Amino acid sequence: MKLVLALLLFSFAAITYGETTNPIPGGIYRFKIPTDATNVAYRDKAVFAANGWALVAIPIATEPGESALTYEQNGAQHTHSFTIHPHAYTEQHITIKNEALVSPPPEVQERIQRESVRQRGLYASHRTDHKVANGFQLPLNGITTSLFGHKRFFNGKPRSPHSGLDIAADSGTPIGAAGGGTVTLADELYFNGNTIFIDHGRGLITMYCHMSKLEVAENEEVSKGQTIGLVGATGRATGPHLHWSVSLNGTRVDPTIFAEALNQTVTSLPN
Ligand SMILES: [Zn+2]
Repeated sequence: MKLVLALLLFSFAAITYGETTNPIPGGIYRFKIPTDATNVAYRDKAVFAANGWALVAIPIATEPGESALTYEQNGAQHTHSFTIHPHAYTEQHITIKNEALVSPPPEVQERIQRESVRQRGLYASHRTDHKVANGFQLPLNGITTSLFGHKRFFNGKPRSPHSGLDIAADSGTPIGAAGGGTVTLADELYFNGNTIFIDHGRGLITMYCHMSKLEVAENEEVSKGQTIGLVGATGRATGPHLHWSVSLNGTRVDPTIFAEALNQTVTSLPN
């Protein structure tokens, strides 16, 4: 098992590092915004922009091939084409002892629905300013136990691809904010357990799940690295770990690819 994990991590590293302008489904396309250009959009939605660069989130369900973003310059609409490359995500089979967390009973459906609507609303946020001028850091140092994009099976039943990165560490280990922002959710959710949402602005939202304890409250401003909670196994978890996800304009992307793209962007020379 350890060897398989090591091989997975190795191939993951080989694929992602230094290739953020080589976009894959679930990844990022990094685009230098032409001088005087405004309103950079992808699929008719404004994209995240910082320091003269646009970071475009590519949904994991996107078919590889030609794609395009648009922008306005000197009163005219322009199109910029780029290629989305294929990427083979591996399968992961997980056994959950509590069957109610795999196929929830009817009495919790309303709660699940309510929480889902609330989370969708938070992901749709697009604040004017961003608070990540000093980039992102990993929220927890531990053992990566599940990568973004795995095709997942819970007790043999197919579920959505893994939408974040799982990092295992001892229960009670502090978890830090990936970057600066505002806490928009600090609550206990059915699947995610004790959860924090941080809105970093311009459509960038991070989520931290399964905590044993929350250390910040809703509407609180947090800075990069500030402790927001402690590692736990609340919600649908097989052991103490952090599920960390990055949402960009409503699209979940690979947190490692995003963090690298953002850090390259904030250290780049602006236009
Ligand atoms: Zn996870």
